[in-house]
Amino acid sequence: MSRERERDLDPSFRERVDSFHLVPNLAQCLTCGKCVGNCPAAAQTPSYNSRQIIQDVLNGRVQRPLQSEEIWRCLWCANCFQVCPVDIHFPLLMMQLRYRAMEQGYGLRYVIPFVRFALRAREDGLTFAPAGKGRERIARIRSAAGMTPWPEVSERARAEYQELFDRTGTTEWLQELAARPENPVQFSYRKGRITGE
Ligand code: SF4
Ligand code: SF4
Repeated sequence: MSRERERDLDPSFRERVDSFHLVPNLAQCLTCGKCVGNCPAAAQTPSYNSRQIIQDVLNGRVQRPLQSEEIWRCLWCANCFQVCPVDIHFPLLMMQLRYRAMEQGYGLRYVIPFVRFALRAREDGLTFAPAGKGRERIARIRSAAGMTPWPEVSERARAEYQELFDRTGTTEWLQELAARPENPVQFSYRKGRITGE
């Protein structure tokens, strides 16, 4: 699936991806590649190319980014944003692309392991709460530093957190996500490389 046919291109893709209007200046991309040159994911994996992903979105290539392994390589460090001459916030585009990919069942294996952390946060107000020796060690370190042995979250704060999760639909979304069937990613940009965008 290296090329999508002309009739499969979707001119509304950009609007659909950026439904929260977080990257309204995307079309100003100069294709200068500064983002790629400053990207740790691209340094690690040469097929990863934020500039190309932007061009795919602008050109309405829907399935190529959504079905690809590549969009799961981004570390969300925002190095690209820091050097972009026109201030395109690529990580916010990536966040929305991943959301669209998940809607189609792609990339779930990268996300599902974190669902339990999110649901735990809903219960405890903490995303990470080790048990046993890990907990004892943290308690020792905190006590030695003059802190309470364990970060206390008040009942009220916990209740507010749960309310936020539930009222925004996040709890339901997380539970549904964990049960969603996986659609394996099908494409690496390395295979369909990237000319004549
Ligand atoms: S640095 Fe900015 S303008 Fe240049 S290719 Fe990347 S997103 Fe486009
Ligand atoms: S946020 Fe993603 S695309 Fe941008 S520099 Fe970091 S890894 Fe690369």
